[in-house]
Amino acid sequence: MSIGKNIETIKAGLPEGIKLIAVSKTQSIEVTHQAYQSGHRIFGENKAQEAATKASALPADIEWHFIGHLQTNKVKLIAPFVNTIHSVDSIKLLYEIDKEAKKNNRIIKCLLQFHIASEETKFGLDMQEAITFIESPEIKTFHNISITGVMGMATFSSDQNLVRREFKNLKEIFSWIKETYYANQTEFKEISMGMSGDYQIAIEEGSTIIRVGTAIFGERNYQ
Ligand SMILES: *Cc1c(COP(=O)(O)O)cnc(C)c1O
Repeated sequence: MSIGKNIETIKAGLPEGIKLIAVSKTQSIEVTHQAYQSGHRIFGENKAQEAATKASALPADIEWHFIGHLQTNKVKLIAPFVNTIHSVDSIKLLYEIDKEAKKNNRIIKCLLQFHIASEETKFGLDMQEAITFIESPEIKTFHNISITGVMGMATFSSDQNLVRREFKNLKEIFSWIKETYYANQTEFKEISMGMSGDYQIAIEEGSTIIRVGTAIFGERNYQ
């Protein structure tokens, strides 16, 4: 199966309005370009340097999403081109994104990453941290970011009920935050959840953005 065919097959099964991010992390520029040539324009990376290298080598009409843990000192590498950062989990990081976006005269979309999995290792906010974050006074002074929704990763598990419960939880978190803080903000609308192994469940539970790597490019080869 070719990359283009894989993308086509996945897209054919998606309900209208759901955004597919082709997660090109660890893939070469050539392989990423193959996906581009098949017509796809939305890509996701999880390392700042790798994202910057690819963005400068590939066509400018790609919409880049950053989906990995982001250190504040790496924000400047992606600020010139990134469309959305899915992994915002601290005010310190948001401050840095705002600052670098401003230098580039851009608005960067940001998703609040929530810890929804039962594994200890995954990054993200819990509800109390999110409330503190959203209510922090600094946030109103940031004019070069736009908070457009939430992101989460389910437990890596074959237990579909567990995965479904975690996605349901993220949807509930989204709805509560929307109602409580962003009711009048139409741009707060995204729920980024679902990967190769669980995106179908994620869509059933209300995902608006899925992040798919393996099902498009095949198994990753970590060097
Ligand atoms: C790698 C990654 C993905 C894609 O995972 P696949 O299982 O290959 O589809 C999605 N989201 C995040 C945050 C990732 O790091």
